[in-house]
Amino acid sequence: MSDFLFKNATVVDGTGKPPFEADILVEGPVIRQVGRMDGARAKRTVDAQGLVVCPGFIDMHCHADFSLPIVPSADSLVHQGITTAVVGQCGLSPAPLPQSNREEVIVGLSAILSEVEEEIPWSEWSSFGDYLLFLRRLGVSLNVVPLVGQGTIRSGIMGFREGRASEEQMKGMQEEAAKAIQQGAWGLSTGLIYPPGSYASTDELKELMQVVAREGGFYFSHIRGESETLVEAVAEAIRIGRETGASVQISHFKAAGRQNWGESKKALALIDQACKEGLDVYTDMYPYTAGSTTLVAFLPEWAQEGGKEAVLGRLSDSAIRIKMTEDMMKGGFAKSVEWDTVLITGSPRKPEYQGLLVSDLAARVGKTAHVWIFDALLETNLQIHIALFAMSEDNRKREIRHPLMTFCTDGMGFTAMGSLPRSLTHPRSYGAFPRILSHYVREEGILSLEEAVHKMSGLAAKRLNLKDRGLIKPGTAADLVVFDPVKVRDRATYDNPHQYAEGILEVIVNGEPVIHEGSHTGSRPGRILNRL
Ligand SMILES: [Zn+2]
Repeated sequence: MSDFLFKNATVVDGTGKPPFEADILVEGPVIRQVGRMDGARAKRTVDAQGLVVCPGFIDMHCHADFSLPIVPSADSLVHQGITTAVVGQCGLSPAPLPQSNREEVIVGLSAILSEVEEEIPWSEWSSFGDYLLFLRRLGVSLNVVPLVGQGTIRSGIMGFREGRASEEQMKGMQEEAAKAIQQGAWGLSTGLIYPPGSYASTDELKELMQVVAREGGFYFSHIRGESETLVEAVAEAIRIGRETGASVQISHFKAAGRQNWGESKKALALIDQACKEGLDVYTDMYPYTAGSTTLVAFLPEWAQEGGKEAVLGRLSDSAIRIKMTEDMMKGGFAKSVEWDTVLITGSPRKPEYQGLLVSDLAARVGKTAHVWIFDALLETNLQIHIALFAMSEDNRKREIRHPLMTFCTDGMGFTAMGSLPRSLTHPRSYGAFPRILSHYVREEGILSLEEAVHKMSGLAAKRLNLKDRGLIKPGTAADLVVFDPVKVRDRATYDNPHQYAEGILEVIVNGEPVIHEGSHTGSRPGRILNRL
């Protein structure tokens, strides 16, 4: 007897076709049959009358590789209907950790990922393959598509230092990248606004990507600029694809800063142009107008260099503070920021800052924003997370519709009950996918339901060359979501983010229920997916 029968479902099958009424039969980890099945029986029958059944959602940009070792149930993600997550993003992956400067790499990664610093069991792995084996043994609730981070590789060979790679260092990085690909990485990611990624020239990235592309690996990039230099940064990523043959994913697409909103159209046009040229370029976004990063990212690049102690040293030096302020006003990430758009979301050492704007916090103590930031970074040992309200809703509506746009959380898997520090976090970790269904489909009508589901499943699977997922048809993996199209919505907000989405009733991963009647079952049927 089959394991599951979904009766009378409104099927949105992931192809972009209009919804149709059907029953779905699941056997083991696979969809067996789709259509009218009067008299069919199964161990479990779900009456899906009035509900949508669609393929599980694919999160194209996720940092859950840092949360899964602590929260393998990935609650905030699977409650959204996400059944597959592409992790190892922004140049940051938990492996490989080198023999020589293992501690330096761990400290550096932790500084960027301050939300999970305390509990990651770093001692459990060294190589990329070790890390994946650790996840396999642990068992996780969703499927994982892992990338290796260029920043992790570079810091392992060169530390968190600026400067060109020597021939020998370049060779070392290429070897590490090749090893990671052989051990299961689907490609390489970069994060070109953070050290050490920001220290890598286009030529260095090309040399590294050549090795990855030869193996058919992807290039996922948090590009070098998402504000003033957005267009140049997109062009750099496309060029790396053109010159190495790699498929390119422009990660968490955005035009940040009011004066740069006009750049969104130009950047998307550049992606269209690349496709016309025959290149394989896609992009992804989260459906919010605020981004999220650490307060440290506002410092000039040179001031972020050399690891935590070096940064803290500079923050305590009054002459260097003057130089930093000058540079922050002249250019870089901080230049286009209005301080009343920067909300403190995480500050474990100074929880009283959470939920407040930098402009208000600075005014309250009679400091300039720059001085307040320097002081706050010192007080908190650099551990402050922020949300930055820098994007235009009109742009978001246009970007969402772009034919090469897929979706992401750019988040992690938390539990609302909290086994991780209770700082605020960007609501996207809990709400990104349901928010598209409620805000942009149901309320705004920007996408039809089938278009949205297609982008979340079929299109994302096509992008990844995932041939056996992302669609509802016989023979594909039984990754399924059952949701109420009238009630589905995100509940997570900036000041109360730790709240699961509503209306996502059943989530099936490889034929096993992970969400049943709206609650996590505790089951961990996720697989570390192999590149076909
Ligand atoms: Zn990023």
